[in-house]
Amino acid sequence: MRTWNWMITASLLLGISAAAQQTVDQSTPPQARAQSAPLPASSVSTQQQAAPVSSSAQPDAGVASSSAVPAPTTLDQVLDRTVERENALMEMLKTRTPLVETYLQNLKLDAQTGPTPSEDHYFFGRMDLSESVDRRDYLSKANFQSRLLGGVTKLFKFEYDPLGFSWMIFADRSDFNRQTYNFRYVHREFLGDVRCVVFDVMPKKGTGAGRFEGRIWVEDQDYNIVRLNGTYSPKPRTASFFHMDSWRLNLVPGYWVPAYIYSEEGDFSYRSKDKRAFKAQTRIWGYNLQKGGKDSELTQLVVDSTVKDESSAAQDASPLQAQRQWQQQAEDNVIERLQNAGLLAPEGEVDKVLQTVVNNLVVTNNIELPRPVRARVMLTAPVETFSVGNTIVVSRGLIDVLPDEASLAMVLSHELAHIVLGHNLGSKFAFNDRMLFSDESTYRNLGFKHVPEEEEAADKKAVDILKNSPYSQKLDTPGLFLKELATRAPGLAALMNPHLGNSFTDKKGGVQRMAVLMNSAPALDANKLDQIPALPLGGRVKLNAWDDHVELTKTPPVAITSARDKMPFEVTPFFPRLTRYGSGANPGAPTSAANSTPSN
Ligand SMILES: [Zn+2]
Repeated sequence: MRTWNWMITASLLLGISAAAQQTVDQSTPPQARAQSAPLPASSVSTQQQAAPVSSSAQPDAGVASSSAVPAPTTLDQVLDRTVERENALMEMLKTRTPLVETYLQNLKLDAQTGPTPSEDHYFFGRMDLSESVDRRDYLSKANFQSRLLGGVTKLFKFEYDPLGFSWMIFADRSDFNRQTYNFRYVHREFLGDVRCVVFDVMPKKGTGAGRFEGRIWVEDQDYNIVRLNGTYSPKPRTASFFHMDSWRLNLVPGYWVPAYIYSEEGDFSYRSKDKRAFKAQTRIWGYNLQKGGKDSELTQLVVDSTVKDESSAAQDASPLQAQRQWQQQAEDNVIERLQNAGLLAPEGEVDKVLQTVVNNLVVTNNIELPRPVRARVMLTAPVETFSVGNTIVVSRGLIDVLPDEASLAMVLSHELAHIVLGHNLGSKFAFNDRMLFSDESTYRNLGFKHVPEEEEAADKKAVDILKNSPYSQKLDTPGLFLKELATRAPGLAALMNPHLGNSFTDKKGGVQRMAVLMNSAPALDANKLDQIPALPLGGRVKLNAWDDHVELTKTPPVAITSARDKMPFEVTPFFPRLTRYGSGANPGAPTSAANSTPSN
């Protein structure tokens, strides 16, 4: 999309081994690019304004998947069913401990770019959705607390309060029922492919503070809530509550699991008193982690037994072979551990796209390696890459913001250079005791930061690799990306703070990595609409909240009409296209989810 040169790469996958020169001809010239922003609100069509539910409401399809009750025929029955399904969801999720990531950008008004991030915060933890909603943080405790006390949460009852947490995920954890709430039918409306009954929801008088107030969208087959939009009410004297737009996806039969939450506060209108402004994206994933971990252990056993054949000849390994095997053992340990901790996507389509770009670099540079380079996607937002053994890991946030394939090649070339130069870190992880730590302490137990000398050497080698590659004439955009990074980084410290690898920037926000590419790049010009140095977050990688698989989004391009449309590195609202489980319109739907359906 936008510079969807990547899509070309993806289509090349059929002939992965084809000469790398092919990619040269196929990339499109840089011209007025289009935004791959989420679906605008206008695309949500309002179809029927008639009575909420008629007797023709497909009694066969969805109802069977949850319970064998006849389809509701009155509004009251619809509401009863909605309440029942909401409670069933809470029950089903009780045993789940998904990961929750919130990335928040404080905003200031910029004359040219509009509300622009001036400071950011990052929260990453794991939720226990059992009776007492609890969370454990992946980031260090001290850090978390200092951030907690650092401002945002003083004014807003933040979602990391367990109560707030549960509200973001459920309408009302304790009392979502018709005794506590008044429901008013609004209309019917399609969200994506899914027809919904829409209700406005108000807490009844005297039911206490912190009740949900807003609107819910209820799909009209099983009557699950698919979207919540509103806030808490009434607000306590000491705090405010965020406004939230919370989306659920039908990733397992019969249930819609919470996946995305967008929050926004602030008002930049003239003389507005509301000086505090921010926007935040919350993503939830890893619902099926525990079970997924066990499944993959079995697969791992099978894989291991086939790998053994390679060392044929029934001989001991030579010293060099042994050294390489040792490194591979460390690599496999780390990759498996990261995946089981919910930090790494399972192998998939996006890896292949990354690997194709690496392959373009390898082939044109006649690089010979004992094993092919693999690439994997880390599921978190902070911009980072690292490599362990022959595996390059790139974060979801970084893939999202890269403007084109050449920029991706720039990122990958640096890690490829580490591999080529033998800057192998992490062989200590071949000792299995070093893999025995809790998921939440992953960042304290793993790390792949190179010393400055190796960073410098890798950059130098990477530039040589790029100059010999199909991307040699396309290095303007990577240079522009780094320039934009240098401009934005001071206000995006949390996004730029890597957790396992080296940073792109220094403490002051100056670009450290591949900085030489900035010298030959054109000047940044926000008003040039065909200059897209970096994309907003969330535009490229689509994450399956249930099984952690990632895929590239296939949203059609939307034209940029002003400098404010560019939104480099920024968070935006979510508008996922809702589809029903197994409808075929959801190619990312997991094949394994069928086996992992909650037993309820
Ligand atoms: Zn490096």
